[in-house]
Amino acid sequence: MSLAQETAPLTAHPPRHDWTREEVRALFALPFPELMFGAAQVHRQNFDPAEVQISTLLSIKTGGCPEDCAYCPQAQRYDTGVTAEKLMSLEAVLAEARAARDGGAQRFCMGAAWRSPKDRDLDNVCAMVEGVKALGLETCATLGMLTAEQAKRLKASGLDYYNHNLDTSPEFYAEIITTRTYRDRLDTLEHVREAGIHVCCGGIVGMGETLEDRVGMIATLASLPVHPESVPINMLVRVEGTPLAQEAALDPLDFVRTIAVARICMPASVVRLSAGREDMSEETQALCFLAGANSIFYGPKLLTTPNPGRDRDMALLGKLGLRPME
Ligand code: SF4
Repeated sequence: MSLAQETAPLTAHPPRHDWTREEVRALFALPFPELMFGAAQVHRQNFDPAEVQISTLLSIKTGGCPEDCAYCPQAQRYDTGVTAEKLMSLEAVLAEARAARDGGAQRFCMGAAWRSPKDRDLDNVCAMVEGVKALGLETCATLGMLTAEQAKRLKASGLDYYNHNLDTSPEFYAEIITTRTYRDRLDTLEHVREAGIHVCCGGIVGMGETLEDRVGMIATLASLPVHPESVPINMLVRVEGTPLAQEAALDPLDFVRTIAVARICMPASVVRLSAGREDMSEETQALCFLAGANSIFYGPKLLTTPNPGRDRDMALLGKLGLRPME
C-alpha cells in the first residue's frame, strides 16, 4: 500500500499487522514534509489531534536491579549514584496517586526495578493497583518479566496497562541487554495480552543504533498480532555511569521521524513522547505532536531521570492549544 492510500483523507483504515521492513524503511526515507503530512493525516483520522493523554510515572521500587540494560541508571552494576530502595508502602503510593490525579493525570504508572516480581512483591503491587483504581485513575505497571500466572493476577486486581518495551530492533538488542533475550520480552508481552491487559510497548532511540535498527523496531512493534495500545518512544537520557553515557546525541529530526513512522504504522495506538523531553526544545516537542504523538509523561521525574515540571508542560500545551485527553 502506498503512503497516499495509507493516509487517504478522512478515512480511518483498520490497523495493518503485515508491515514489511521495506515499507517502514520507505516511510523513514520520505521527504520530511511529506512524512509529517502523512502522519498528521493518520493522526486526525484516528484521534482528536488537539488532545494529549497525560500519564504520571512513579518509581515504587528504585534501584538495585540485577539486569544490565545499558541505558538504565537503576542497574545495580553501574555506578550512577542511584541507591537501592525498598518497595514503597501502599499508603505512600496512594498519596502520590492522589496528587497525580489532582494534578490532571488520567493514568498512573508504577515502575519497579526488578528482573521479575517475586510472589510476595506481586501481592503488594496488586493492592496498590486496587487502591489506585479506586481513586478513579487508569492503572499501569512495569515490573519486568511476567509469567502467565502473574499477568492473570495483575488483571484480577484491576490493572489496565502493562509496560514492557522491546527497546530496539532484534539485531541491536544484544548490544544493549544481555541478561534477558528479545524472545523473553515477546513472551511477557504475550502473557500480558492473553491475560486481557492492555499493552504499553515501545522503545528507545539515540542508543547508537542505526536507522535500520529504528526500522526494525517499528516493524516489529507494528507486526505484533495486536498493536500495543500505547507506544512510548523514548529519547535516550545519557546518564553518567551507564555504558551509554557518552553516546552521541541523536539529531532531534530523526527522533521526530521515528514518532511519525510509529504513528503511520500503528494508527490507532496512543504514541507517547516519553523520556528525553527534559532536554528537548519546545519546537522539537511541537514537531512530535504534529507527527502524531498524543501522550506525555507528566511530573518532575521519570523513575530516576528528570522530566519537565508540571507548570512548564501546562504552559507548553497551552501555547500549542493542546488539552488533556478526556
Ligand atoms: S530497565 Fe528495568 S530491567 Fe533494565 S536495568 Fe533498568 S530497572 Fe532493571
